[in-house]
Amino acid sequence: MILFVKNFHRSHKVFFDSFTLRNRAVSILFVWRIIKRFHIISTTSIRMKAAIFSLIILMGLAPGFVNGQDFLPPARNWKGKSENLIASPKDIWCTPSEKSGFNETPDYQTTINWLTKLCSSVPFLKMVSIGKSPEGRDIQMVVASLEMNPGSSVIKSSKKPCLLVQAGIHSGEIDGKDAGLMLLRDLAFGPKKALLEKVNLLFIPILNVDGHERNSPFSRPNQRGPQNMGWRTNAQNLNLNRDYAKADTREIRAVLNVINTYDPDFYMDIHVTDGADYQFDVTYGFVGSYGHSPSISAWLKNKFSPEVDRGLKTMGHIPGPLLNPVNWIDFAEGIAEFLTGPNFSNVYADLRHLPGILVENHSLKPYKQRVLGTYVLLEETMKLIGKETSALMESITKDESIRSENVVLTWKAPDVKKPSSDSIFHLGFKSKREISDLTGGEVTRWSQEIENKKIPFYDLKEAEITVKTPKGYWVPSFCTEVLERLKFHGIQLEISKQSTTVQLGMYRIKNPKFNSQPFEGRIQVKGNPIPETQSVTMPAGSAWISTDQPLGELASLLLEPACPESFLQWGFFHSIFQKTEYTEAYFMEPLARKMIQDSPSLKEEFEQKKKEDPTFSQNPDAILNWFNERSPYCDKTYLLYPVGRVE
Ligand SMILES: [Zn+2]
Repeated sequence: MILFVKNFHRSHKVFFDSFTLRNRAVSILFVWRIIKRFHIISTTSIRMKAAIFSLIILMGLAPGFVNGQDFLPPARNWKGKSENLIASPKDIWCTPSEKSGFNETPDYQTTINWLTKLCSSVPFLKMVSIGKSPEGRDIQMVVASLEMNPGSSVIKSSKKPCLLVQAGIHSGEIDGKDAGLMLLRDLAFGPKKALLEKVNLLFIPILNVDGHERNSPFSRPNQRGPQNMGWRTNAQNLNLNRDYAKADTREIRAVLNVINTYDPDFYMDIHVTDGADYQFDVTYGFVGSYGHSPSISAWLKNKFSPEVDRGLKTMGHIPGPLLNPVNWIDFAEGIAEFLTGPNFSNVYADLRHLPGILVENHSLKPYKQRVLGTYVLLEETMKLIGKETSALMESITKDESIRSENVVLTWKAPDVKKPSSDSIFHLGFKSKREISDLTGGEVTRWSQEIENKKIPFYDLKEAEITVKTPKGYWVPSFCTEVLERLKFHGIQLEISKQSTTVQLGMYRIKNPKFNSQPFEGRIQVKGNPIPETQSVTMPAGSAWISTDQPLGELASLLLEPACPESFLQWGFFHSIFQKTEYTEAYFMEPLARKMIQDSPSLKEEFEQKKKEDPTFSQNPDAILNWFNERSPYCDKTYLLYPVGRVE
């Protein structure tokens, strides 16, 4: 019985539910197996036997229990050559997940213990802490390199390309961790060591370490295994894959520091999808050639994808593009490019000219298939970047040297109502839509029947908001949080030793609109940035940021207030939207009287305003405020964004 209760809890995806014949049968069978296995019938007293049979009858009458995964679209049998990568359970380096038949994934401590043991067994693997999580756990990274003393500066200056792989940014989507453990084992002791002759590997097994420990069978209902899954957000309930631009979290700051100090040449961020059913098991995406790194994008499209996909197919997997269907319940309407900003890892990578892919394994594929697909993807990526190093480096150098006249802050969403000239071949399953008699809404039911068809693909082509690239920006010393974050991003700053008076292009943010709900712990704001020119004194300790640097475009996107990912819109400058000095009516009313007396044109402007705006004409406070804004007593910094542009 204890075993039954234990299994009941361990199977987790199990919960009491309304009575169904099938589930009742499963319950009875489950208890019967335990009874038979432990020879309970032959070893117990008559009373005990009676109790056991009563229990079985009760199981038949009581509400049954169901497996939550019963609700998922059907699991399909899969066999692939990549199954040969699985170690024998007798192998002392069989990973915890392999040992469980890919039913489970090890917790943080088991993972770190296993990796510590592995790293102490060979000289070319070492584990380093790249930071502490909000709950105090070390965020660990394995450095796999044949270089002597491979610290960050050695890896940075190495002639070999460096691959940075990050698993568990959303910690329930943990395929990358278990695939990485297998690959590291094979790099350490197997024939795969040769891969390290051409590539250095940085592997973060779990980025969201705190979320990883908040695991349960109820974290990701749309995902087929492992048994326990971590939570999407970190301990502060922040989504790390929305934090690349604002860099609020310790976890993302740790990653930015790795990118700045090790200078990787390829970045892989591994997730698992939600959404619809289809045949692809490993999907991944990168920013198209419209983005900030066209040469890298072309390399990824023309070199990386064809070769890596070939490797995946040979090993029995079905690679596909990152899917963002126009209509989640009807893929025939086409796929559209993701319209996201540099708060996501892949867009951030593109902006800093770092070749990067965002991997989304398909949540409905069994855990084993997903982990093995990830292993193959990692291996193929290592092979390819080791072989194609010079072409890869060339594309990086080319994109790093781009100095555009204008910088694109946002892209127009494609018009998915129009026919598209581009298409992709979608490998789906036939489905039917039903109207639920429970909700009255539409529900899609996928069949086992394959449906392959060409569907439209909508790329982003047209810029929406652009600004002229300035020579650079001045950020005043009092913007401490922003200066700190610019440093986290590795943007080059020159800090002034003395105060400097400069002619600057400034923005006054008119009509600010604050979001009514917080997003990622912040109240976002949008406004209308109206340019004006001012002579401004920047105090000592202010930063000059030239756009003539590889991260110049990144600086522009973070500092231009019209950009949705800018520090302004993320709420770093809320204090500019507040008036902090006031004029009383007994002072302002006679002053206003004097002002129109001295200026006939002001009087005319005032009369006109009253005529055009009856609400204004009936609001004494608004009238006095109108005069205050035209007097020397007004606050000149009200609504003034303090970062300035040098044109
Ligand atoms: Zn994810």
